[in-house]
This record gives sequence, C-alpha cells and structure tokens, in this order.
Amino acid sequence: MLTIDGSQGEGGGQILRTALALSLVTGAPFRIEKIRARRARPGLLRQHLTAVSAAVAVGGAEVEGATLGSPSLVFRPGAVKPGEYRFAIGTAGSTGLVVQTVLPALLTAAGPSTLTLEGGTHNPGAPPFDFLARAFLPLVERMGPRVEAVLDRPGFYPAGGGQCAFRVMPAARLAPLDLRERGAIRRRRARALVARLPRQIADRELAVVRARLGWSEEELEVVVVDGSARGPGNVLLLEVESEHVTELFSGFGQVGVRAEAVAEQAVEQARRYLAAGVPVGPHLADQLLVPLALAGGGAFRTIGLSSHSRTNLDVIRAFLSTRIAVIGAGDDVLLAFGGAAAAGS
Ligand code: AMP
Repeated sequence: MLTIDGSQGEGGGQILRTALALSLVTGAPFRIEKIRARRARPGLLRQHLTAVSAAVAVGGAEVEGATLGSPSLVFRPGAVKPGEYRFAIGTAGSTGLVVQTVLPALLTAAGPSTLTLEGGTHNPGAPPFDFLARAFLPLVERMGPRVEAVLDRPGFYPAGGGQCAFRVMPAARLAPLDLRERGAIRRRRARALVARLPRQIADRELAVVRARLGWSEEELEVVVVDGSARGPGNVLLLEVESEHVTELFSGFGQVGVRAEAVAEQAVEQARRYLAAGVPVGPHLADQLLVPLALAGGGAFRTIGLSSHSRTNLDVIRAFLSTRIAVIGAGDDVLLAFGGAAAAGS
C-alpha cells in the first residue's frame, strides 16, 4: 500500500485531497500519516473529514482513522459510482475543496453525476465558485468532459449556508490540454460582491482596481447579494479573459481588514499575472496538475511554481507514472506532461 507523508512540503490539506482524488481514479489504496503535523491544529479537521466522506461515498471506499484530529488515515477505494450526490459541509466549509477531491473521478466515470454542495462558496484559502466556473472548468471541458456549474446562493465565512451544483457529463478518457500561450486579452471584469454589508465596501475596492490596474468604469461592477446570503460577506473577483484562457483572482473580505487591503490582495495577483504574460496563474496551476497528469499528456506555462504546487506534484508522482517535467524558472515555468516535454522544448 502507498504511504503518503502528510507533513511533507507545504503539509496542508491539499496532500490529503490529491491523494483521495487519485486513489479514487486509480483504485490504489493508501495510508497517509502525520496529517498536517506542522500546523497549529494538526490532524484532520472537519473540512478534511467532509472531503473524506465525499470520497467514501463516490468511491464506495473503506476508511480507517476518519475522526476529528486523527493524524493518520487508511483509504481503500472500491468502484467509482456516478450518480446524484449531496454533501453538506458543516457551516462555511469550502465547497470548492470537496469538488477538487471527487471531480477527477467523476470526469471519467461510467455515467453522468450531479454534485450538490452546501457550505461556503467563497472562502479564503480555497477556490471560490467563480474561479471554478470561469477559469478551471472551461479548461476541463477542453479535455473532453462537460461540467455545468450553478451557484444557487453564495455562502461566506463564517455563516456559510451557500449552495452550488455541478453536473458532470464524463468522457471515456481525458484528452491532453496544451496551454502554452495566453493570447491577446479580450475582456477584463472586476466584480465586488457584498452581502449584508455596506455597498461602499465594494465601491472602495473597485476604486483600488481603477487606480492600480487602470481598468475603466465599464469594467467594474458592484454585485449586492443581500437577499440570498445567510450572513455577511465580501469578495472581489478580477477576471481576465484572453484568447486561450480565462483567469480569475480573488480577495476576500475579513473582519478587521480594510476594503483597500482586500482589493490589494486580488490586484497584486492580477498585476503579477498580467506582467508575466503567461496563461496560467498559481492557483490555476495547482488545479490543472491532477487532470493533466491523468491525461498523461499536455503542457502549460505558468508563473513560478508555488511550494503548494510542488508538494501537490510530489503526491501526484506517488500515484501516477506520467512523466512531469518542470522547465524554466522565475515568472515563466513550463510544465510538460508525458511526452510533451520533448515537443515543447
Ligand atoms: P490547502 O491550503 O492545502 O488547503 O489548499 C487550498 C487549495 O485551494 C489549493 O488547491 C489552492 O490552489 C486553492 N486556492 C486557494 N486560494 C485560492 C484562490 N484565491 N483562487 C483559487 N484557488 C485557490
């Protein structure tokens, strides 16, 4: 059985989620030890347990050690069962992180599936719904499957109560994706969402986008989602649509953090991306590793690999034999999967 060190590299929940995702697809059981050992609250937290139970349901798996605070876990997958799934993630746990865990297996399952998820849809430290719908899933669709994403209502930390759904029409196998060029920028859009908070928060965030990125008034939009949200929330979403890819950067409102500082987080990411001229930003790179490794081919250029992505790569290499080459450094790195390294270099 594969043994994964949960404290390696970045040492976060991503190690567990990538291991679960690849175990489901490959059928390989694994043991993970020292889960989040170097974190302030080590072991499995509630949000990780939700990912585990989602993986158990989708993969008919057997599991040992799935308890709060547990430092280790054994996961033995059965057959992937496409179908209708509903997972409620306590309070404001991230729905996007559960998608990350079970989607890869459903993309090549024997039939269509629907995932309905309740919890947080816009959480700091996790892919927000819009990032999945606008940036990540359109690329997955280029690899063969179809995935429709619907946001029923947003959920923000800490109140949660959001709901989103993903309808997955699988493909027999994932086709390689080649994303080496960004192409010309076609459209830019900044949306500041506020729920049960003063509208001026959104106005101040958009003013930062205008001043720092020089985006025009027509590219800025305030979205008030008061009625549908259970609690207060704020997120700034910066979307850059180019010829070959759409990227989305986000800044999350937090109690005690000024709107200008929230905007800066997103603006800085967008600024770096625009300056680098590559198609894929750091978070999108993180999400693309598993599908491209499963496709066994393809390539993309990204801003220097984060330590998070490097750890993710190490976990992928433990499960799959796909050759993954990391070529270059600085703000322009090529990741080539399978035989694509030779073709691209
Ligand atoms: P971890 O920190 O190990 O729990 O992993 C968090 C996951 O969420 C990683 O896959 C990150 O790439 C992803 N992520 C975090 N923040 C964002 C963001 N603002 N946009 C998109 N993805 C994100």
